[in-house]
Amino acid sequence: MALIVQKYGGTSVGTVERIQAVAQRVKATVEAGNSVVVVVSAMGKTTDGLVKLATDITNQPSRREMDMLLSTGEQVSIALLTMALHAQGQEAISLTGAQVGIVTEAEHTRARILKIKTDRLQRHLNEGKVIVVAGFQGISQTSDLEITTLGRGGSDTSAVALAAALAAEKCEIYTDVPGILTTDPRLVPEAQLMEEITSDEMLELASLGAKVLHPRAVEIARNYGVTLVVRSSWTDEPGTRVISPRPQPRPLEGLELAHPVDAVEFDTDQAKVALLRIPDRPGIAARLFGELATQTLNVDLIIQSIHEGNTNDIAFTMVKANLARAEAVAEAIGPALRSNPTDTTQAEVMVDQRMAKISIAGAGMIGRPGVAANMFSSLAAAGINLQLISTSEVKVSCTIDIDDCDRAIAVLCQAFEVTSSPMPQGVPTTSDPAPEVRGAALDIKQARVAIRHVPDRPGMAAKIFQLLATHGVSVDMIIQSQRCRLVNGQATRDIAFTVAQADAQTAKAVVESAAAELGFGDVAVDEAIAKVSVVGTGMIYAPGVAARMFKALSEQGINLQMIATSEIKISCVVAEAEGVTALRAVHNAFGLAGLKRTVVPA
Ligand code: ADP
Ligand code: ASP
Ligand code: MG
Repeated sequence: MALIVQKYGGTSVGTVERIQAVAQRVKATVEAGNSVVVVVSAMGKTTDGLVKLATDITNQPSRREMDMLLSTGEQVSIALLTMALHAQGQEAISLTGAQVGIVTEAEHTRARILKIKTDRLQRHLNEGKVIVVAGFQGISQTSDLEITTLGRGGSDTSAVALAAALAAEKCEIYTDVPGILTTDPRLVPEAQLMEEITSDEMLELASLGAKVLHPRAVEIARNYGVTLVVRSSWTDEPGTRVISPRPQPRPLEGLELAHPVDAVEFDTDQAKVALLRIPDRPGIAARLFGELATQTLNVDLIIQSIHEGNTNDIAFTMVKANLARAEAVAEAIGPALRSNPTDTTQAEVMVDQRMAKISIAGAGMIGRPGVAANMFSSLAAAGINLQLISTSEVKVSCTIDIDDCDRAIAVLCQAFEVTSSPMPQGVPTTSDPAPEVRGAALDIKQARVAIRHVPDRPGMAAKIFQLLATHGVSVDMIIQSQRCRLVNGQATRDIAFTVAQADAQTAKAVVESAAAELGFGDVAVDEAIAKVSVVGTGMIYAPGVAARMFKALSEQGINLQMIATSEIKISCVVAEAEGVTALRAVHNAFGLAGLKRTVVPA
């Protein structure tokens, strides 16, 4: 008899009729010979309603009381679903997170799961009962047994963690769409269903705004090799499989506290080309990367920093063997970028062969503000200066002087207690060939913070991000510019990063408080930004993916404010008002749109 964990989201249990339909599906799964643990969310928009009640009373509710309040939503739905099962003649029992023993950190509103006690679950399963568990909640390990919640959207994480703890045959996430689509069908109805996606790709998409799965759920599925499927509550279609490589065995103790970093990766066969002072207008990146793609020159990291005045810098890296050709493209294009002969901007090309790329990688860094900071401090303590920095949710990459590479590897391996490996050559785990772009996502909940004139010496990035981490601010995309500017005889660079909009003012205040002491210039915040991203394992091998994305955006007249890439994703920051247009343009450019339109039930 197989054990299956099924999770039903808010819309799927939004009405009494929906709850009865869920009960029928659960009963059918039992009748097919399975044991079933069901995880449910609160009904419909209940959690949003509770948040509104709280903020009607105070704009700074206590986080403990928020957990007390929000955890009630799921308690309603577990009781009703269990009654519906009883009414259909199915034995069942509802349990809150505390009654199961879903033990978490004492960190209110964003607790991580430490362990799940399975004895009571096993007992009820042996009695032939369906167990209906409240998602999104747990209980702290402290003597006071505090109710905690896992963060919005956290029921997915409860379900996958239960599947891992019980070694379930599979975890099925039932929701209001047919599965994982190439992008959010509410924004692009022509988005198409995927049969499968790798957990690496899904982690990126989930972190970049695809809320169909909570990123921490994907992280647990990947770490513990849980078979994960996303399906519609309304149909019997198979949905989408999330494919994970076979994991290293790991203990269930400290479930979500596994090492934040899985690996330190390095690459000494890279060189960098930087174009400085190029005009800040749509189409420039498209032209540069279009020309590189025409010559089949594959680029790796691409970084475009914030603009100063009316110019930008773009830097990119590639294998050393391609440097001469890439430099020639950049040299040829640089002067041509001047909009008219009187233009005073003087584009300049710089190359660097004496660089190495060093990265830390691991899904465990999601939502942990201290990890990037720890990397920067470890390097700073060894006197290693950072040149370019580019991050994704699951990776932080820096370029450094090649002579510092061995030392950098050693200090990072020690700091994160892992071994080092050369950059992975991206072995796709789903059916070959992996598509260049599997999906696209839009995140409109971010703000950009830019710090001007940060002194160019070891330890600066470390100080900034350590400070933010101490104040609980999670930083998303970090970009350090290529251009060094002399300010009062001192070399400086600009650093820009994105944070959740809710954290933007805290981030600004924190950085400003250190500005005088550390010698920074002004700090600017822009909340009206959107981040549009494409993700695909196949892009590692394919020249021209970035060029296609930039071209699609420039054809819409959309200006790129920041660019950051990792091996399997490209993200661009654009004006918020242009976000949806940008997403549609990019989704079309990669041929992801299809004829079938997905209508999401209200
Ligand atoms: P649930 O309540 O079932 O947990 P969510 O609202 O959290 O549902 O997640 C499902 C929603 O995720 C969909 O209705 C859709 O609007 C959104 N979504 C965003 N990106 C994607 C994507 N790539 N594929 C499918 N759905 C997506
Ligand atoms: N009810 C919670 C929320 O709305 C948890 C969830 O649905 O996953 O965020
Ligand atoms: Mg959800």
